[in-house]
Amino acid sequence: MIPLPPKKARLSTYCMVLSVFTLLAYHLPFARHAACCLEGGFNSVLLVLLALVTLLGLNYLLYYLLVYCFRKVGKWIIAFTLVGNAIMLYGVVTYDSLVTDEIMGSIFKSQYSEVSSFFSWGAVLYILLLGVLPSLYAIKRKVDYGSFKRFLGQVGISLAAIVAVVMMNVKNFTWIDRNSTELGSLIAPWSYIVNSFRFWASERQRNQKEILLPDVTSVSETRDICVLMIGESARQDHFSLYGYGKETNPLTARDSVVALKADASSTYTLGGVKAILEPVEAKELYEILPNYLQRSGVDVSWRTSNWGEPPVHTEKYYKNTELKNQYPDLDGEHDGILLAGLKEELLESKADKIFVVIHGYTNHGPAYYSNYPPEFEVFTPACHTVEMSKTTQEELYNAYDNSVLYTDYLIHSVIEMLRDIPDRRGCVFFVSDHGESLGENNTYMHGIPYNIAPRAQIEIPFLVWAPDMQVKPLEKVGQHHVFHSVLRFFGIESPAFDEEKCIFAKN
Ligand SMILES: [Zn+2]
Repeated sequence: MIPLPPKKARLSTYCMVLSVFTLLAYHLPFARHAACCLEGGFNSVLLVLLALVTLLGLNYLLYYLLVYCFRKVGKWIIAFTLVGNAIMLYGVVTYDSLVTDEIMGSIFKSQYSEVSSFFSWGAVLYILLLGVLPSLYAIKRKVDYGSFKRFLGQVGISLAAIVAVVMMNVKNFTWIDRNSTELGSLIAPWSYIVNSFRFWASERQRNQKEILLPDVTSVSETRDICVLMIGESARQDHFSLYGYGKETNPLTARDSVVALKADASSTYTLGGVKAILEPVEAKELYEILPNYLQRSGVDVSWRTSNWGEPPVHTEKYYKNTELKNQYPDLDGEHDGILLAGLKEELLESKADKIFVVIHGYTNHGPAYYSNYPPEFEVFTPACHTVEMSKTTQEELYNAYDNSVLYTDYLIHSVIEMLRDIPDRRGCVFFVSDHGESLGENNTYMHGIPYNIAPRAQIEIPFLVWAPDMQVKPLEKVGQHHVFHSVLRFFGIESPAFDEEKCIFAKN
């Protein structure tokens, strides 16, 4: 237990101790980032210092208001934010990521398995030393709250100081504006509180009813199966189909797969998956491909080890955990389980048109090594830790490339399966939700705001196997091409169809 003096502290002293601690303990990434964005010179140093003083003032004001107005409850709120700050700092330092509304969304929507893959003893140490310990001080320290007059005085002085510092910075406004997204995302506790609210606000908007697409006008008589494999964090330049030096696609290279250059619409799962399933880029939610096809009489099923898709209304929806229980003899730890029982299901279906979505997890970080079975550990030595800054680039690449090798195997397995089904035309798409950073410029994983994201997070593999179709010679495609190309493959005519976003020529 920390020895605390028995005498009560003045509220101003208590708040100053906590706000200085908040500044020093959690804002090193902020200061480092601010210094990086600057062109140098005395003015730049001054600017960073003024930004830090503003932060100090804001936190002092926040703490003062909380504790004076809510007393014990205020102290507990501060304690919670201190633990939150420690977790945030761990995430920022370990994954070199920014705290944006997208990242907060990913955290809220994560499953236990995803959160637990971020667990490490480093995280425990951060939370104990920089979260729990200062929280004990915040809760236990006895405080003399002072008179209302003193409260008004303190609030007035700190407000005036903040305004004065901001006014001194007015001429630097363009710099601040240009860098505000990144810098704002590194300020504790504001970044994760504000971005959590921003995420929930956009979620409420997103949960509105989907806008129905116009009815299908005609459907061809062919008997077809289309499998759409939605990749997770698959990055184009690590697929040998796109010229990567290591042979990461030995199987699909022999499957006459067409590899189209493509950009993702987003750098995070929710946005990428939505773009793959919707006909146009839109803030609103249009009827997504599986829902639309099911409504049009297609036999649709969804198999997933992932999350983050828009509401899917298909009758057949299988989670990997259910498939694992249903097929206990198969490897249930990796995405191969998503293919369990698929062939039987395809053979049994009476429908003319069958559409299957497989939403995997195989290339998701940081634990790339845990996403493939041991026999796919071909590129060695492969990184076996989630603390990426502790591994070499080569080891990280090896682990990631092994996960690509496993992806290659899964795509090939689906193609083989369709080849084996008689009297049906087959088609397989593999399209990733977004790319991935693997330590280039100290950036890891994905989720960087789109306009400043590195190409590695945007360029995705877009693979097609469709022996009965002719692929147009397109220079580059996007995720919305999936929707229209699937319609053409099925021979479905619809006012929602857009020839410009279709990769197949008319037969
Ligand atoms: Zn993703």
